[in-house]
Amino acid sequence: MLLDVKNLHVKYGTVEALHGINLQVEEGEIVTILGANGAGKSTTLMTISGLLKPSEGEIWFDGKPIHTMPAHKVVEEKLTQSPEGRRVFSTLTVQENLNLGAFTAKNPKRVEETRRWIFELFPRLKERKSQLAGTLSGGEQQMLAIGRALMNNPRILLLDEPSLGLAPILVKAIFETVAEINKSGVTVVLVEQNAKAALKLAHRGYVMEVGRIVLEDDADALLANPSVREAYLGGG
Ligand code: ATP
Repeated sequence: MLLDVKNLHVKYGTVEALHGINLQVEEGEIVTILGANGAGKSTTLMTISGLLKPSEGEIWFDGKPIHTMPAHKVVEEKLTQSPEGRRVFSTLTVQENLNLGAFTAKNPKRVEETRRWIFELFPRLKERKSQLAGTLSGGEQQMLAIGRALMNNPRILLLDEPSLGLAPILVKAIFETVAEINKSGVTVVLVEQNAKAALKLAHRGYVMEVGRIVLEDDADALLANPSVREAYLGGG
């Protein structure tokens, strides 16, 4: 097991947002987390990546407890999140944003190889490497956020809503790229509103409702599940 989340409780002030989440990810998988707005998907990812601290529960990554580590240490363990809302540094160039993603890197040759790989995955970023990130289109900023996360050579990549606000053609492209990233050996946890596309891509999925996991299954089974179809796949 690469990632093991056990009985995770998280509070914002006095209000508990996660009420005991259990979630497992095997090496090589794409696992998706589905749920309505406010279900706690982002909170789950932010807690795994160390940006929020649980009030109860544990997170183990490759046999190590990471819930006690500060976020920058979690990054050094090769667990990286690409945040929602394409939080790129808008006054820095594409190249400079990518460099920041490699802040833990010790081997310049490896950084160069990774950069080359990211430019193959996203040729658009290569064309625009000197452009200020704030002037990129929404889709390009999303590519940059993912590229920046990949600069850390993560073993596991947490993606929060990579298709948010993108035109359908770009949604398809982003999902294809996520498949390619996974084929290259990166385990992926994917939070998505676009449930159908996410389940087609993923091996397994979890469904969250108001701070709890209410269903977990193989992606094919979730795609065929009547209550999932009704709630998340537009019925039918
Ligand atoms: P969405 O799909 O809308 O992003 P989500 O499933 O990612 O939703 P979260 O953002 O994790 O849900 O929110 C879970 C709950 O925690 C919600 O009730 C939300 O209002 C609350 N919450 C999130 N962030 C904060 C915060 N900084 N302070 C207080 N409450 C918060």
